[in-house]
Amino acid sequence: MRSMREGFGPGMFWNKVSKTDCGRIARDADLPLWLRAYFAAQWRLNQIGHAEFQSGELAEILADENGKRPSDGSVANAVARAKDKGLIKGESNARCLMLSHHHARTGKGAISCSQHNARVWRS
Ligand SMILES: [Zn+2]
Repeated sequence: MRSMREGFGPGMFWNKVSKTDCGRIARDADLPLWLRAYFAAQWRLNQIGHAEFQSGELAEILADENGKRPSDGSVANAVARAKDKGLIKGESNARCLMLSHHHARTGKGAISCSQHNARVWRS
């Protein structure tokens, strides 16, 4: 059986996106924090749709042009706004951003998430 990670199903089209470039955009201080959070999720996305970060790491990624980190509240607000806009899943938080399997998939990275205590299912 064909792996779910290879595509989105019959008749569904998809792009390949550079993780490296998503990492660059996530660090672009000219962009709003909620949009940068989305690109951080694309950058770190693992094989089960989770993008894990160490404590304080997302704030470091979202630092301004002077390297100043946003407050925890600002990071939480960025995550909340990205959820409101439907860019990341509702279960996301500053330690793990999640993307819908209908939106993005990757064949790279972990198959588990310690933040959500999640593990891939094998059929
Ligand atoms: Zn997770």
